[in-house]
Amino acid sequence: MAVREDADQLVRSTDSQHPANLICELCRKFYTLGWVTGTGGGTSIRHNDHIFIAPSGVQKELMQPTDMFVMDYNNRQYLRKPTTLKPSACTPLFLAAFDRGAGCCIHTHSQWAVLVTLLVERDFGTKACFEVERIEQIKGIPKGKGKAGNLGYHDRLRIPIIENTAHEEDLTESLEKAMEAHPDTYAVLVRRHGIYVWGDSVQKAKTQCESLDYIFQLAVEMKRLGLPWTT
Ligand SMILES: [Zn+2]
Repeated sequence: MAVREDADQLVRSTDSQHPANLICELCRKFYTLGWVTGTGGGTSIRHNDHIFIAPSGVQKELMQPTDMFVMDYNNRQYLRKPTTLKPSACTPLFLAAFDRGAGCCIHTHSQWAVLVTLLVERDFGTKACFEVERIEQIKGIPKGKGKAGNLGYHDRLRIPIIENTAHEEDLTESLEKAMEAHPDTYAVLVRRHGIYVWGDSVQKAKTQCESLDYIFQLAVEMKRLGLPWTT
């Protein structure tokens, strides 16, 4: 299908839960958390066969619904492409999450996520995952795709870490490999960069992203105090 530059009906809605409105609202909230500072990070929502994606290089807290790109999930062609904006370099990474059944994918440049990747490298090496256990907030993370319920207090949370690349889209292959090697994970950390978190729905992706950020901040403080992440 050809790009319809006038396809504004795809992003115009008075419903606050419409993906184009929701991405703008979420990014405003994420900005206050330091997750999308300086145009970094991004959010994408899959609604049926439509993928809504925030553009690249824009002030994420000031975006308008009309700034959104819309892609057809099946043929990967843009249905709506704002002419003055660039598509997000995160797009192939978001698609990797949607290919695994996600309904929403959030990418942040959270400093807590970045610090955790550095601490894991220093103390456990470049092949290690971030691992933590016996922290109540772990219950905010599901057990895994096709598994009922969330992790329990006594479970160990493991988040794989991939190495950063010069260009965001070049992370796709290693992100997909990490997803295959860790089929239960709903998140992948990127060293010295941030994190990709996805969920079955917008609400789940947001809950998981918040829970993980809380855990990462706690983990950094625990390390500062000489407290171990696992027993
Ligand atoms: Zn990024």
